[in-house]
Amino acid sequence: MDGIAHILLGIALIGPRWEVVFGSLLPDALYLLSIIKYRFDLDKSRNSRIFIYGERIHSFIFWSIILLPIYVLTGSVEVFYFGASIYLHLLADLVTHRDFGPRFFWPLIDDYFPRGLVQWENKYVFVSIWVIICLLLAVAFY
Ligand SMILES: [Zn+2]
Repeated sequence: MDGIAHILLGIALIGPRWEVVFGSLLPDALYLLSIIKYRFDLDKSRNSRIFIYGERIHSFIFWSIILLPIYVLTGSVEVFYFGASIYLHLLADLVTHRDFGPRFFWPLIDDYFPRGLVQWENKYVFVSIWVIICLLLAVAFY
């Protein structure tokens, strides 16, 4: 999904907090860096090491190793919301990346696995995702 969709999904399902905005975007940060570095040449970007690390930081295992000790040590509600928004991002990508994408179980499985149900760039899927997000926002805030 695109970054704005991830943010709005996080706000609709978790709440309007800065931690949710940052956590919703963070897993895609290396993709963005790669695209900027290769000046929007998507083929070069997708084959770059930065992009591959972007796929790897979509790992449920990676974020558990980082976030669980921090949360246990601090008990911080901000860390909880930050982590919840990262995991929501990963769950959304799990469903919406069918053709290529994240390495959800890195470092145990360093490959795109498992495959999602739909590919988010497909125009019908893209519109459907936005309709669902708008409905969720309406339910959450009206
Ligand atoms: Zn992502």
